Amino acid sequence: MEFERTTGGAILMDGIRLRDEIIVSLRSTIEADGNPDVCLATVLVGDDKPSRLYVKSKHKKAKEAGLASRHIDLPSNIAQSQLETEVRALADDPSVHGILVQLPLPEGLDAEPVLDLLPVTKDVDGLTERSMGRLVRGKPGHVPCTPLGVMRLLDRYGVETSGKRAVVIGRSTLVGLPQVLLLGRKGTDATVTLAHSRTADLAAVCREADIVIAAAGMAGLVTPDFVKPGAAVIDVGVSRSEAGIVGDVQFEAVQEVAGAITPMPGGTGPMTIGCLMQNTYAAFKMQQYEDTGVELGSGLSL
Ligand code: NAD
Repeated sequence: MEFERTTGGAILMDGIRLRDEIIVSLRSTIEADGNPDVCLATVLVGDDKPSRLYVKSKHKKAKEAGLASRHIDLPSNIAQSQLETEVRALADDPSVHGILVQLPLPEGLDAEPVLDLLPVTKDVDGLTERSMGRLVRGKPGHVPCTPLGVMRLLDRYGVETSGKRAVVIGRSTLVGLPQVLLLGRKGTDATVTLAHSRTADLAAVCREADIVIAAAGMAGLVTPDFVKPGAAVIDVGVSRSEAGIVGDVQFEAVQEVAGAITPMPGGTGPMTIGCLMQNTYAAFKMQQYEDTGVELGSGLSL
C-alpha cells in the first residue's frame, strides 16, 4: 500500500484518516446489525475547556458512527456522593451501554470510587481495576482507547512489532502501562522498555528502539538524537502553548530521521475517539451476550 510521506520521507501515520475509516466501517457494521440503539453516556464535571471540547467531539463522532449518545453535565462544586449517584444511575440503566467519565475531575473529587461504580462491560475507557486486570490476564474486556489507538496506527501503517524493540515513555495507567502490555502481548510480540521521569539517559534508551511511543506530556522531549534511523515514532503527549497544541516529539526535526511518524495534532488524538466508538459497540455486544448467553465470537475489543 502507498502511504503519504513527510518531506523527510517518513510515512505519515494519519490518525484523522484512520479514525474516519473506523467510523465508516463501524457505521456499516451497526447498519448490518439492524441499527440497534447503542448508547454512549458521557459525564463531565466542571468547566475545563479542553475537556468540554473532547466531550463535544466524542458526541459528534458517535452520531456519525450511528451511535446514540447522552451527556450529563455537572457543576465543579458537586458533592462526591451526588456525582456517585449520577454515575450509579447510568450504570444501572440498561439503555446505556458505554459510560465515559471525563478525567481529570476538578480538585476535591476522587475519581477512583467513581470509576469503581462502572460495570466492566460499560467501562469503554478501560480504566477501572477490573478492566485493567482483564488486560493483564488476557481476558476479553475494554482496552484503554489511547494505547489501543496507537496499536491500530502501527497496524494500519505496516509497522512491524514482532521481535522489534519498543520504548514507551510514561507509565500512567491511562496510557503508558496499558501500552506496554499491548505491545508485549502474544501475537504482537515486541520487546518493550518502560521509560519514565527517572530513566537514565533517555535518549540512548530510545535510540535502541524500532518503535518509540512518547506519552510524557513534555513538549518537544523527543529530539532526533532519540531516534534510530527508520524507527516509528508515535506522539501521544499533548501540551498547550501559545502556538497551539504541541506534542512530546519535535516533529519537523524527527521526521527527517524516522521511518514513520504521527503528526500532532492529527495523530493519536483522533484515534482515541475512533477507538472509543468501537469500544462502545463492543460494550453493547458484551451486554447482549450477558443478557442472552448467545456466543458472539471473539475479538470484541482488539
Ligand atoms: P501522566 O502525567 O499521568 O504521566 C506522564 C508520565 O510521563 C509519567 O509516568 C512520568 O514518569 C513520565 N514523564 C514525565 N516527564 C518525563 C520526562 N521528562 N522523561 C521521561 N518520562 C517523563 O500523563 P498521562 O495521563 O499518561 O498523559 C501523558 C500525555 O499524553 C499528556 O500530555 C496527556 O495530555 C496526553 N494524552 C494524550 C491523549 C491522546 O489522545 N493523544 C490521551 C491521553 C493523554
